[in-house]
Amino acid sequence: MWTLFAEMPGLKVNFNKSMLGINIPESWLIEAASILNCKVGKVPFLYLGISIGGDPRRLAFWDPVLKSIKFRLSGWQSRFLSFGGRLVLLKSALTSMHVYALSFFKAPSGIISIIESIFNQKNWGGSEENRKISWVAWSSICLCKEYEGLGVRQLREFNSALLGKWCWRMLVDRDGFWYRVLAAQYGEEARRLEVGGRSGSFWWKELVKIRDGLRVVDGGWFTERVSKRMGDGSSTFFWYDRWLGDVPLRTRFSRLFDLATNKMCTVVDMCALGWEVGGEAWCWRRRLWVWEEELVVECSHLVNNVVLHTDVLDRWQWDLNIVGGYIVNDAYHILTAQTDPSDVGLNDLVWHKQVPLKVSSFAWRLLRDRLPTKLNLVRQGLLTAAAARCIAGCGHDESVTHLFLHCDTFGLLCQNIRSWIGVEGVEPYEISDHFFQFTHYTGSSKKRTSFLQLIWLLCVWVVWNDRNNIVFNKTQTTIDELLEKVKFHSFWWRKANNANYLYGSQRWWSDPLLCLGID
Ligand SMILES: [Zn+2]
Repeated sequence: MWTLFAEMPGLKVNFNKSMLGINIPESWLIEAASILNCKVGKVPFLYLGISIGGDPRRLAFWDPVLKSIKFRLSGWQSRFLSFGGRLVLLKSALTSMHVYALSFFKAPSGIISIIESIFNQKNWGGSEENRKISWVAWSSICLCKEYEGLGVRQLREFNSALLGKWCWRMLVDRDGFWYRVLAAQYGEEARRLEVGGRSGSFWWKELVKIRDGLRVVDGGWFTERVSKRMGDGSSTFFWYDRWLGDVPLRTRFSRLFDLATNKMCTVVDMCALGWEVGGEAWCWRRRLWVWEEELVVECSHLVNNVVLHTDVLDRWQWDLNIVGGYIVNDAYHILTAQTDPSDVGLNDLVWHKQVPLKVSSFAWRLLRDRLPTKLNLVRQGLLTAAAARCIAGCGHDESVTHLFLHCDTFGLLCQNIRSWIGVEGVEPYEISDHFFQFTHYTGSSKKRTSFLQLIWLLCVWVVWNDRNNIVFNKTQTTIDELLEKVKFHSFWWRKANNANYLYGSQRWWSDPLLCLGID
């Protein structure tokens, strides 16, 4: 072991390439290191920012990770950055190194909260000394569009999803060196690694919990989604593995399993013995009661329909991706799905490949009523109720729906845009309904929806910027000027994303739908 261990600094590890590109040797080394540490009592040391041989249940274990995240965040002048810009930086702070740490060790919840609060403060231009209002709770940032937009993951679930990858490897990579090491350490029964009792490392115990579905909260998310695809039946355990139906037969027919004398039989063994009613496959510790006999008949009918393919090997499958196997993102989605808000369709509308991230991020906050409108500032106790009036002087309070939809001044922009594009429509009361109805017409094409989506996002963005200019810079604009801005930006956003953009701004100004070839 020491020989391998000593070679560690010479390992070439490409962590930036892929978060899952962790090679087996490193994984084995870390596991080996923790075993080694138990035996020789060596002082933990740092390797790639992780305290090798340390105890991940202790907060101190995570200190290097926290330090590094803080260090990366410390240089930012985040109050000068847009919301979108901050998120991009946040993503970059959660480096592959942290992902690496999280992929090995179940982080204690204390650490998760600390990392989350560091992000939460940073995200909104605050610091530990100077807390600012978190307009959007961390968890709801995490819920939204992990991969395209506000790509900040929910750490706890992400951590579990990464650990799930190891559970998957335990099933499908049994020839791997690391597997044999684990088998030597913990033992193996029914082609499964044993739990290993108290001697198991922390890393190992956490994996076992996921593999066996022993978690209190999310339970069997892993076990419920792995099953055996039947080939010749030679490597599938009749009672233990899940190969027929939603649960293993030992769960479905738990009484029969208790009584069976051949618990370790494979599917092909059972079939060869004869699993028809009265067949040799059914051997019991005692004579069965009538109702137990009925269970045998039921079980027998079930398996009798199975056809084994002698020339194909059994293999494990991840139910969500039968061909590709376990995918961390799938697992992450399963784990976060329970808390997913219902407005998924609307979330999708916010992201658009021709619209800058800062604009989408802004719209995302808008749809959740998380903008610092005057009314929201009053609610937060930062403005007096008397100061909540709309900047346009219309006499109403400045709420999101007022500013963007009902204001005598700003609310007109949308109508002007409709007449510019040449589309009819009602103006619903709620901002989310508005967004949806503006972009969706019965029978409208994808191209058209996509364009209207862009226009809507741009429209609210222009309104908000203009409103801010009036509030902070005392400028003045007219609705015509706002409309010009929408025309201008939409022209350039589309042009910037389309090399075959042939028409000039003149035509765009007069008839955008014609330019786009949309009826
Ligand atoms: Zn107004």
